Parts: sequence; structure tokens; C-alpha cells
Amino acid sequence: MNYNSTRNNRTVVTASQAIAQGISEEGGLFVPQALPKYDADTLKALAATDYRGRAKKIFADFLGDFTEQEISESVDAAYTAEKFGSDNPAPISYIESGETKMAVLELWHGPTCAFKDMALQILPHLLTKSVKKTYSGKEAVILVATSGDTGKAALEGFKDVDGTKIMVFYPVNGVSPMQKRQMATQKGSNVSVAAIEGNFDDAQTGVKQIFTNAGIKAKLAENNMLFSSANSINWGRLLPQVVYYFSAYCDMVNEGKITMGEGVNVVVPTGNFGNILASYYAMKMGLPVKKFICASNANNVLTDFIRTGTYDKKRTFYTTISPSMDILVSSNLERLLYHLTDGNAEKVAGWMKELSANGQYTVDEEVKEKLNALFYGGFCDDVHTQETIRTLYKEENYLCDTHTAVAVNVYQQYFAETGDTTPAIIASTASPYKFAASVLEAVSEEALPEDEFAMVEALSACTKTPIPAPLSALREAEVRFTFTCKVEEMPQTVLKNLSIN
Ligand SMILES: *Cc1c(COP(=O)(O)O)cnc(C)c1O
Repeated sequence: MNYNSTRNNRTVVTASQAIAQGISEEGGLFVPQALPKYDADTLKALAATDYRGRAKKIFADFLGDFTEQEISESVDAAYTAEKFGSDNPAPISYIESGETKMAVLELWHGPTCAFKDMALQILPHLLTKSVKKTYSGKEAVILVATSGDTGKAALEGFKDVDGTKIMVFYPVNGVSPMQKRQMATQKGSNVSVAAIEGNFDDAQTGVKQIFTNAGIKAKLAENNMLFSSANSINWGRLLPQVVYYFSAYCDMVNEGKITMGEGVNVVVPTGNFGNILASYYAMKMGLPVKKFICASNANNVLTDFIRTGTYDKKRTFYTTISPSMDILVSSNLERLLYHLTDGNAEKVAGWMKELSANGQYTVDEEVKEKLNALFYGGFCDDVHTQETIRTLYKEENYLCDTHTAVAVNVYQQYFAETGDTTPAIIASTASPYKFAASVLEAVSEEALPEDEFAMVEALSACTKTPIPAPLSALREAEVRFTFTCKVEEMPQTVLKNLSIN
């Protein structure tokens, strides 16, 4: 199985090249040339095994130049009960109320309490093996722009991994206090963290520019290093996310919630479009998904795109209580456009050029029709997000975080509009304790304590739910990173950190 670039079909790379390189030379994203097709027997075989077994099968079908043993080692090292609290890293909580059936797929039981762990616990294994295959002996420099969760999950995944260095940039006022503390206290000898004076899109654009800056790249090459990416533009981030949609479906079958072959909907709180795109790939491979419900917060650029066919990033950027979705340029949408145009790289490259030159583009009618046949877009502001947390807790005794609440709210809007009773898999993307202030405010009548850890404890006392161990450990952890820089200073910061300025 080889990979093309979304912006040039003449670019053909192996899986390990796609993962090691992260992004294609001309700025496009790597996409599989063909997808494996799973029939009913394959789904049954997946249902008969566990999460790790399912992951091994799916990885083997995509990672053409990896050996079975390499895949096995990577999967077994990543998805341990020690790291994810049980042998199933992605358990489901069922909420059935009235006619709605929600299977809340909890993707946040890993070391950093957000769904990014599902991919970032395995990416370092895939990436170091990929770099060995394609650029033997080079040191991989991982640059990450984060809206909060990716940064911490990547730091935790790559800390002290031989042959790698990792550098994370986050928007100084764009992450929750808990997210900031998680990153500032990161351990490891190969890690560094900087805040930037700007928002997530500034950080992401800054990182993309460093990646494609010929001068900087040459400097790295002289020093036997190369850049790679742990952002969800990297195929090695997306592929692990395909696994949990298959796994959830199998678990639902095994738990008697659906019958094999029955249709489901998928609801995803969306930022960079990685998580929802992974479910689209699962569908293309044979998982019976009927509708993809794309949930946004007040930064509703995707809702408008799905409804109008025009992607327009020229709009106010809102800082919300679901900060991991505060994004105006959803990078992975480019991959969906590539598939919806049946691989028309020229068209996709044209739209992306318009986006960076004019801040907007409009897809043609044919693409819009295909999009609307599969995707529903909706959004939810902060007030309704908190209301959803409160109602879900009071009525169903289920505590969810701000991002998951956006998904639940948009699912309810979808249900009210369509009456569609298809069972819905709701991607639950973070522990409520990562966003303790907003969650506590939603469920408690009392005044909020000031200190972040006092809030975490109050939330636990109020809801009688346990504080995740990795978060309570942060209280005593030493702060290592307090550096803030301007967006223009990002290249210099990187070079300085690598001691090659
Ligand atoms: C990253 C993140 C999202 C958005 O996921 P995308 O794959 O970028 O669409 C949603 N919720 C949480 C908690 C996240 O960390």
C-alpha cells in the first residue's frame, strides 16, 4: 500500500516515508492510494478479538513496508492496561433516553486524559521505525502546534524516545490551566515547550512554515536531523484513530446493542477534522456508518462549510470553553476533499491556494452533494455546552467534558431535526477533569474555588467521580517551561533549542 499527496498524484511514497515525512514536499497531505475492504466475515473476525488484535489487523493492511513483528511490538507497547487503565483502551458508556441511543466512546483513559493518547502512544513507535527505514541514522525533530491536548499527548508519547527531539508550541491564552500545567511540568530530556503570543492557527501556520523553510531544512540536514510532525496531518496519527471506530462497533455487537451489519451514526466534536475523518475512512473500508455528524463550537467554520459549500476562514476567532476545537483552518478537511473529488489533486491544490491567498474557497456542486449525503454539520456555543453538561449529569448521571458536550448537543439538534433513531457513537474526547472549571460551574451551585486543584477536588466531591491519577500527580510536579515567544520568533526558537542557530 502506497500513498499519494492530496496536491500531487505523481507523488508516491511508502507508508514509512509518509509517516517519517509527515507532510508532502508541496504542502499536501498523504492519503492511501486504495483502501482495504472489510466484508462481514472480516468484521466478525475483528469482533472475535480484542482491541490490540483489531489494531494489528488494521495496521497490517495499511503499513505495507512494516513487518508483522514491528506492528505487533508497536501495538503491544502502546495499548497496555498500565497506560489505559484496562485492556480495552476505549470503553463505551451507553446512554439511552427517549428514542435516542448514544454509545459514548470514551477515548480519554490514557496518560494525558484526552483522545490524542489513542494515536500518540503508538506514533513514536511507528515514527522511529519509519525513520530507521527511510532515513537511517537521522534524528527526528518533532514540531507540534497544539490547542492543548496534542501537545501534552505528544510530549508524553515521545519523552526520552531515542533518536527523537520534540518541541511544542501552544497559544499563550488558548489552553486551559490544567493543559498549561500538564505541558509546563513535562518530564524528559528531549522535550521543550514554548507559549506563543497568538492563537492556535498562528501556531499551526508558524509550524507549517518552519517545516517548509528550505534554509532551516538545510541546516537540519547538515546536522543529521530531519523534521517530522506529530500533528494530525501525519498519517501515523490518523491510522490509529480508524481502529477505535471498528473496535467500538465490534464491542456494541458483542454487548448486544446492535446486530452485525446494522447501521450506526458517528458524532464527533471536531477541530482539525482528524477524528471525524478517521471514521470516514472506517466507513470507506466497510464499517456501516450512515451519517457523520460534525460538531463545532462557536468557531463554526465547518458547520457553514457543510451547509453552504464555502469554506471561509475570514471570521472572528472565539476563545471558548472547548479550546481544543478553537480552530479556523481544519487541516484534515483537505483529505476529505481529495476523496470526494475522486482524487483530483489539481482541484484540491487550487482550493488550498485560494484558502491561503483569499481566506476562502467554494467547492463545486457535485462535491457539495456528496458531502451533504454523508455529513451533517452543527454547532453549540458555551452557554449551551454547559447546559448540556448539566442536563446530562442531572438526568443521566453521566459527567462529560466540554468537548463531548458539544457533540451531545449537536447530536440532539440533529435528532430534533431528523428524528433519525440510528444508534449514535459519540466520540468522547477528554476527561471532564481536564476542564474542571467549566464542568464544575455547570454541575454545581456553589461558588467556584480559585485554585485549579481545588476545583478538581470540588468536582470529585460534588459528583463522586474519581480524579484521574495523572492529573492529581501534577499538583506536586515541578514547573520546567515558562518561555513565551512571538510568532515571528518561532524559527529562531527552534534552531536555538537544537543548538544549531
Ligand atoms: C483535539 C481535540 C478535538 C478535536 O479533534 P480533531 O481531530 O482535531 O477534529 C476535540 N476534543 C478534544 C478534547 C481534543 O483534544
